[in-house]
Amino acid sequence: MSKNDKQYCSFCGRPSSEVKLLLTGLTGNICGECAERAHEIAAESTKEKTENKSGFSVKQEELPNPKAIKAFLDQYVIGQDDAKRYLSVSVYNHYKRLLQKDESDEVEIEKSNIIMVGPTGTGKTLLAKTIAKMLKVPFTIVDATVLTEAGYVGEDIESILTRLLQVSDYDVKAAERGIVFIDEIDKIARKGDNPSITRDVSGEGVQQGLLKLLEGSVVNVPPQGGRKHPEQKLIPVDTKDILFICGGAFDGIEKKIAQRLNTHVVGYNSVQHTANIDRNNMLKYIAPQDLKSFGLIPEIIGRLPILTYLEPLDRQALRNILTEPKNSIVKQYKKIFAMDGITLAIDDEVLDYIVDKAIEFKLGARGLRSITEDIMVDAMFELPSSGQKDFHIDLNYAESKVEKSKTLYLAAS
Ligand code: ADP
Repeated sequence: MSKNDKQYCSFCGRPSSEVKLLLTGLTGNICGECAERAHEIAAESTKEKTENKSGFSVKQEELPNPKAIKAFLDQYVIGQDDAKRYLSVSVYNHYKRLLQKDESDEVEIEKSNIIMVGPTGTGKTLLAKTIAKMLKVPFTIVDATVLTEAGYVGEDIESILTRLLQVSDYDVKAAERGIVFIDEIDKIARKGDNPSITRDVSGEGVQQGLLKLLEGSVVNVPPQGGRKHPEQKLIPVDTKDILFICGGAFDGIEKKIAQRLNTHVVGYNSVQHTANIDRNNMLKYIAPQDLKSFGLIPEIIGRLPILTYLEPLDRQALRNILTEPKNSIVKQYKKIFAMDGITLAIDDEVLDYIVDKAIEFKLGARGLRSITEDIMVDAMFELPSSGQKDFHIDLNYAESKVEKSKTLYLAAS
């Protein structure tokens, strides 16, 4: 027996001959395996100390404040100041909710889910996607149009959380503090006034299902999405701390707003009030009762306490969208050509023309991209193999390409 064999690990008691490594201290020894285990326990306990009840380990000083969040949004999204402010504050407060440590404290910060109403193509999804870039929590976008009541064709409500689980790598604790953007929420509004006559598969039943998620409850989520199968193992997810941001165009809601404003302003001071109303942007005056007239059930509206709107994009906003955002359409095309060593120059007149066409054919911001694509596509096909180093687009060139394009043909038909 060698001299070393007399030494033992003071934790597991194994002799040095049975372990790969034995560290010697002043009054005892520790083997490599026990040291590793001790390290894990120490790391676990420090983590517990820095994390709070929801497992959120970011410190308050590290959080971007609302102004910083808005400044970030400003780099990518043109205009929409009101929506940006509401969104920034909500996301910041969501973080604060996650940071609240003291459960015995009687003041509990409640969740403030958001609903954004605005015409299609004005930046709702873009806002949500942009905010996701800077978030420190899992984030996903789901489309409400695919949702139907349990037992019908389509996806179960619970599948909304499947995506969140997927982006969290099935870390349930992380998913439970995430943010979900539900797009096209207006598509689950009740269609008729009397839902009992015809079965409203995608209407009130879906809203009731959604309510459960918004309220905060433990929901059994199918890990692969789609419909629930009896053999599929479901994952329980608590939605109490998940922030929901909803968006929808709510086509025609302006009429409901106008009706409400007209009935309200009858009487004292009415003339003055109606005169001040900006008829071109009725959404500015949106109130929860308008969502109810549109067909959302009051319980859902109650669970979406922050209501904000997006403005229709005017000519200047469309013009700015072409060039201003960090990844604006023009910057993207310049990059595409630069990768082939080609310098792209576009006359200002051309940019104005693109905006004119997008407005003329009511294509909105989405149209800017398709019209620009029509102008560029021939050059993108020809130039990489031509050896040409500069590409200058003037109004004549742009007009000739747009006139023969199918985008406007389709838009006009
Ligand atoms: P919505 O969700 O409101 O229907 P999107 O956010 O999907 O509209 O917008 C469609 C596209 O139009 C975006 O990808 C973006 O290129 C452009 N766009 C729309 N609104 C804005 C905006 N306010 N600022 C910058 N780009 C915008």
